[in-house]
Amino acid sequence: MASITLNNIHKTYDDGFHAVKGVDLEIADGEFVILVGPSGCGKSTLLRMVVGLEDITDGDLLIGERRVNEVAPKDRNLAMVFQNYALYPHLTVFENIAFPLRLNKDAKLSEDQIKAKVAEASRMLELDDHLDRKPGNLSGGQRQRVAMGRAIVREADAFLFDEPLSNLDAKLRGQMRAEIAQMQRRLGITSIYVTHDQTEAMTLGDRVAVLKKGELQQVASPRELYEQP
Ligand code: ADP
Ligand code: ADP
Repeated sequence: MASITLNNIHKTYDDGFHAVKGVDLEIADGEFVILVGPSGCGKSTLLRMVVGLEDITDGDLLIGERRVNEVAPKDRNLAMVFQNYALYPHLTVFENIAFPLRLNKDAKLSEDQIKAKVAEASRMLELDDHLDRKPGNLSGGQRQRVAMGRAIVREADAFLFDEPLSNLDAKLRGQMRAEIAQMQRRLGITSIYVTHDQTEAMTLGDRVAVLKKGELQQVASPRELYEQP
């Protein structure tokens, strides 16, 4: 894992709209930061700049010590987790987790090395008993863990979550929230997690960053936010 540092980050879209205005934020190695704010405040824009899907207009973005403003998304080594996890329905859990390893021709891993990496990740995520199943036969929480497993075998430096639970019913959302919290305690993953959900913000985050009209209003621990008048 690595830290992520945003130094005075700006985004102005082609139509002149200034969507992100001078955001300063340092996410420590292993820290879980929640990004909240009303619809249209710039959360997706910010995440897309960090992952490299959107150009940064001004400012510096660092992963660890490395400035990555002009680095291609695939070379930033970040894992993005979306609402629908993008698992391959026709592949087993094992093959879904192994997928990025097979895709990475540069690494030239042997089948034994791939097996060892998948075994390690699935032990960590308690998926060992499900490696031969297809995603359609898994619970939502298990599917989420497969998506995480894929990021873990890649040894991603950080995770970016874009409202991963927003389409789920309340019961499943509660279960998955608990799973993510547990995984965070176990793995200490550096994360930026975008959500609308108060409970997620208050229970998952080491710190909560509040964005409004493209500006960071406040960065505080959940406890500090809760106790403020
Ligand atoms: P959020 O994720 O917080 O809902 P977004 O980052 O999606 O906010 O959008 C922030 C603002 O930037 C919104 O006003 C949105 O309309 C605007 N915006 C997003 N994408 C573009 C674009 N490609 N061109 C111009 N404006 C955009
Ligand atoms: P989200 O808020 O979840 O990012 P949106 O529906 O706001 O989703 O945006 C969907 C797509 O439309 C994005 O690719 C975004 O860049 C683009 N978009 C959003 N607002 C604008 C805008 N005002 N002008 C041009 N493109 C926009």
